[in-house]
Order: sequence, then structure tokens, then C-alpha cells
Amino acid sequence: MKCDFCSSREKFENLKIKEYPRWVIHLSPFQCYLGWCDISLGRHLEDLFEVSSEEWKELFLVTGKLKSAVQLSFQNDIFNYSSLGNRARHLHLHVIPRYRQAKEFDGVKFTDARWGRNYSPYDKSFQIAESTKDKIIETIRKGLPDYVVP
Ligand SMILES: [Zn+2]
Repeated sequence: MKCDFCSSREKFENLKIKEYPRWVIHLSPFQCYLGWCDISLGRHLEDLFEVSSEEWKELFLVTGKLKSAVQLSFQNDIFNYSSLGNRARHLHLHVIPRYRQAKEFDGVKFTDARWGRNYSPYDKSFQIAESTKDKIIETIRKGLPDYVVP
């Protein structure tokens, strides 16, 4: 088994927002949708519907807390969720805030060019400074509890 996430998790450390017992939240490297996060299972598994009932309960709670934190931080209009596993097989859920109107954060303008449509294909050429990513991570982290109790 060759899994990038399992074999070199330290590569993702700079994007880590918060780690819970069963799931870990990272900021997506793609921020064309401001506050896009990924929730990944701590152990290697590939199919969302093969998680244990404890993992399922924690995912439900963690996603709820993450939604609140992102919404409070950036006032997005809705969320898209996706679990695909086409390229990165390690089970993860994308939590993608969508915006009716452009948002400014840290002096950067974020425009949801696909509002009202599928989040993909998205603008992979949209890049922001590491310092802006750090500020997004800090802002979301502040809104998250240290513990969730299933
Ligand atoms: Zn894995």
C-alpha cells in the first residue's frame, strides 16, 4: 500500500488546523474557496461508508464544529461536501465554503467564480502567500473546540 498521507503525514503539518482522536482537519492547499478544509481519517481507510460507528459519530461532530468555525470566520453562504478518493485514496472529506459574493481576507480578494455550480473544476492557479494561509488556519482554529465528545 502506497499512501502519501500515511507515509509522509509531516508534509501536511503546515496545513494542519486541529487534530481530534479519530479525525484531523487540514486547510486545503487550494484556497480559491476561502476556508476550504479537508477532514481526514487518522487511520488508513478508503471508503467513507466503512468507518466505524465511533468514527462516524466523531466525523459528524467535527464537521459541525468546523462548519460553525468557518461560517463565523468568513460568512460563506453554503457548504459543498465531497468525498471522492480518485487521486488521494486516503479517506477524506472536503468541506468547501461557497460564496455568493467576493470576500476579502488579509488584503486578498477571494472570488467564487463558480457560485451556483459544482465547485470543480476550480482555479488551481490561484495561489496565496504562506502567511495568508497561516492566518486562515489561525482564524479557523480559534473557532474550534479542543475536544469533541462523541
Ligand atoms: Zn492512508
